[in-house]
Amino acid sequence: MIRFDVLTLFPDMFRSVLGDSIINRAAQKGILEFNFIDIRDYTKNKHRKVDDYPYSGGGGMLMAAQPVYDAYQSIVKDLDYKPLTVYMSPQGKVFNQQKAIELSKEKHIVILCGHYEGIDQRVLDMIVDAEISVGDFVLTGGEIPAMAVIDAVSRMIPGVLASESAYENESHYSGLLEYPQYTRPEEFMGVKIPEVLISGHHAKIEEWKRQESLKNTYYKRPDLLEKAELTKKDIEFLNKLKED
Ligand code: SAH
Repeated sequence: MIRFDVLTLFPDMFRSVLGDSIINRAAQKGILEFNFIDIRDYTKNKHRKVDDYPYSGGGGMLMAAQPVYDAYQSIVKDLDYKPLTVYMSPQGKVFNQQKAIELSKEKHIVILCGHYEGIDQRVLDMIVDAEISVGDFVLTGGEIPAMAVIDAVSRMIPGVLASESAYENESHYSGLLEYPQYTRPEEFMGVKIPEVLISGHHAKIEEWKRQESLKNTYYKRPDLLEKAELTKKDIEFLNKLKED
């Protein structure tokens, strides 16, 4: 069970994306809880304006501190603990599977999404524990990054996926990319699935999966091999690949 509270100017974006998925089914089962809080509801001016000009000049607008702060207070005021509060930001540490596993151990995460040029630094300093980026590029808002993080973290929560082995073999979980997978029929447009998969020989299949994982990683993301946990057998296999 994990609870996400998202502070955003666009709560409907979340409802339409997450409302239609495995994630929503898990929420209905009570394994996940979501609250989408509209920062605009916490403005104190007649026009419900959340943004203002930055003192540093330059183009663009900034989200003001007060509505963000008050929206945040609406979540924490009745809690006797501080939920982990994350700001989606291109300045953060780049998100990855390791981080998703780490976050999946939290009970309650607040995710703050910026828009325009970002958010007044003072409120960030007051409430944010960590900044997370989804990559070295800049988007118009934190909503798409937040959805990526929520999705990746949620599928690590027991009960969300059909089985836990569904993610244990997956790309990045063990530091390697996944092996290729096949479903029926056995032959498609003259192309057969690898023989070994219908051999019924469990150990051989496991060995094939490991080698295909190593191959995929070697050809697509060789940088990952430097950090992966490799057995002597893996290294021998990789050395052979390099010779070919
Ligand atoms: N002026 C800021 C960028 C603002 S982009 C800067 O240069 O650092 C507007 C909002 O989009 C940000 O507040 C953030 O919430 C979100 N955002 C943009 N790119 C992102 C990324 N790569 N990862 C996570 N959030 C991002």
